[in-house]
Amino acid sequence: MTPRLRVPAAEAAGSGMTSQRVRDRLVQRLREGGIVDERVLNAIRTVPRHLFVDEALATRAYEDTALPIGHSQTISQPWVVARMTELLLTGRSPKTTVLEVGTGSGYQAAVLAALGLEVYTVERIGDLLRLARKRLRQLGMNVRSKHDDGRIGWPEHGPFDAIIVTAAGPALVDALIDQLAPGGVLVAPVGASASQSLVQVTRELDGQLQQATLAPVTFVPLLSGTLD
Ligand code: SAH
Repeated sequence: MTPRLRVPAAEAAGSGMTSQRVRDRLVQRLREGGIVDERVLNAIRTVPRHLFVDEALATRAYEDTALPIGHSQTISQPWVVARMTELLLTGRSPKTTVLEVGTGSGYQAAVLAALGLEVYTVERIGDLLRLARKRLRQLGMNVRSKHDDGRIGWPEHGPFDAIIVTAAGPALVDALIDQLAPGGVLVAPVGASASQSLVQVTRELDGQLQQATLAPVTFVPLLSGTLD
């Protein structure tokens, strides 16, 4: 079941460069780029990405590109959001809960919530988290969030059926893999800034871990500690 968006209709619908037509064109481009999961394409069609960037950038919100969100951080490129979300939904077991490390603008969390998942998200920069919370609340999206170093995960709410890391570390984080439920999937960018790849880790029902290295990507770094 897809939750309904609770935002002033005109604002969410957008106009001109933020209209539904422009959003549909983005979905078409993602399809051409190999995104096949209709649930994911539908979530991207539904979530108004222009409300997750500064007003000055709203007209570029439906280009398939990362955009700055302040504090040297970026809202991820829509294709990357779509691909990571698609990878999260793979595997045999149904997915109910998802942990995101790196809330940023809140857009990825909104896409996950639009899929009907129970979303937990952690952000180390307080300023970004406050803004993301406000946007998610305005859209009526029920996302739980905390201001912390996400590399420790959120053990009180784990284990999770899916874990998505939206900042790149030099290696996979063991504490996060430990919070993956049997049948669960973790997707994270891993590697040094010049050569990162998406890595997918699946915990089989018998507890065994499977790892696959997928597309090359570019993410901001996964850092330690918190900032106000
Ligand atoms: N998912 C976000 C992408 C934001 S960019 C979106 O849809 O907009 C990555 C984010 O990860 C940044 O906001 C950055 O501050 C955050 N981040 C980096 N290291 C982190 C850590 N250890 N814990 C939590 N957040 C972290």
